[in-house]
Amino acid sequence: MDLQYAPEHEEFRESVRAFLKGWPLKGDEAELPKEEQESLFRQRGIDAGYVYRGVPTRYGGSGQPNDAIKDRIIREEFYQAGAPGDLPSQGAGMLVPTLLEFGSEEQKERYVARALTNTESWCQGYSEPGSGSDLASLQCQARLEGDEWVLNGQKIWTSGAQRADMMFGLFRTEPEAKKHAGISYLLVPMDRDGIEVRPLREMSGGFEFNEVFFTDVRIPAENIVGERGQGWAVSRATLIHERNLIGNPFMIREAFDDLVQLARTRIRNGRPAIEDSGVRQRLAEIEGYVRTSETSNLLQFTAAHRGEMLTAMRPMMMNKVCSTDTTQRIMKCAYDLLGSDGLLAPLDEELNTWSRTTTSTGWVLQYMFSMGPAIAGGATNIQLNIIGERGYGLPRDLRKPF
Ligand SMILES: Cc1cc2nc3c(=O)[nH]c(=O)nc-3n(C[C@H](O)[C@H](O)[C@H](O)COP(=O)(O)OP(=O)(O)OC[C@H]3O[C@@H](n4cnc5c(N)ncnc54)[C@H](O)[C@@H]3O)c2cc1C
Repeated sequence: MDLQYAPEHEEFRESVRAFLKGWPLKGDEAELPKEEQESLFRQRGIDAGYVYRGVPTRYGGSGQPNDAIKDRIIREEFYQAGAPGDLPSQGAGMLVPTLLEFGSEEQKERYVARALTNTESWCQGYSEPGSGSDLASLQCQARLEGDEWVLNGQKIWTSGAQRADMMFGLFRTEPEAKKHAGISYLLVPMDRDGIEVRPLREMSGGFEFNEVFFTDVRIPAENIVGERGQGWAVSRATLIHERNLIGNPFMIREAFDDLVQLARTRIRNGRPAIEDSGVRQRLAEIEGYVRTSETSNLLQFTAAHRGEMLTAMRPMMMNKVCSTDTTQRIMKCAYDLLGSDGLLAPLDEELNTWSRTTTSTGWVLQYMFSMGPAIAGGATNIQLNIIGERGYGLPRDLRKPF
């Protein structure tokens, strides 16, 4: 396997690096609040053709032709520079590509640009109590009354609902139809009467998840994406983009390097832990998983390069399974190396769990957080079922009758 980039791509990398010399901002701009600095630089990235490449310019993107190699180089370089690129938010990362595929012209004009800049923030209303892996069994109802949908029911695990302006969600609009056929994909303003958001406390002490209750909530009939009763197909598109957001190989390699460093500095039986044969063996084993994860990411990259990004389910799902499993192994090993320091580490709700942090608290939060991505966007067992059944044509798993 030749993993070298061609000379023209190395040239492109140089141009990205030259652009990234503008980050961090300097002079007066460096005095602006952090969020303003990020949006300013992101806008420059759009103007230069590096950010939101797949989104047409008329909706606020940079409208570049499909090029998976350039996309990857940009991702690598922006990551290394810690520069703000495409927002990995539910709005920009999941709703926008879905609207570009299924939305009406009015919906694209109304929602896309605001989602890209996060001037309108979004949450995802899919899961319900009893409808997670078996999502199509969802019961939240939308009844059409004149020119309005009337919503009733409950969602759960809705990340960020407490600060979201809008929700894209799945609602049962045809209770008589078969389970997958009776669902519609609706866009719900979160400030409507009858919506109640209740936070759920996490083991880290933070509040990112919510329950969302709907009692006779009225939204305009035109807030439907795709056809009535066709929401399942629309939701599949969003899920593919959600899975695609999970699994950053650069982050995994960095986390592993940090883990090795931790093993060098922690003392076990009077010596650096890395000198313990058990620790070394575990690190070597994890390095194998890191490489598997990198390879699965390269397979996904190859599929994208061949233009199969959205149809090549197997590499994408393998990548999610491998990357989330590897991250969990790294964080669990770090947690074990910390010993009682890990148990005693003060948990700081303000700490950004996405950032690379190697304090005891940082490791513990990352350990707790590492369990989530293996469940979000479809739990690992479900991904493995899909890989087996659709990817390899194995016999179908037992399904409970509906
Ligand atoms: C970090 C995070 C963020 C999330 N954010 C959102 C969000 O913003 N919006 C939203 O709608 N939801 C969100 N979720 C919810 C997520 O989509 C669900 O948790 C997920 O789909 C699993 O559903 P469940 O929790 O009901 O578990 P269940 O479906 O009850 O599964 C429990 C266990 O049983 C296993 N299992 C279930 N069925 C099978 C089967 N047929 N074969 C083998 N094993 C099976 C699963 O793999 C899992 O291990 C989030 C979850 C997490 C962890």
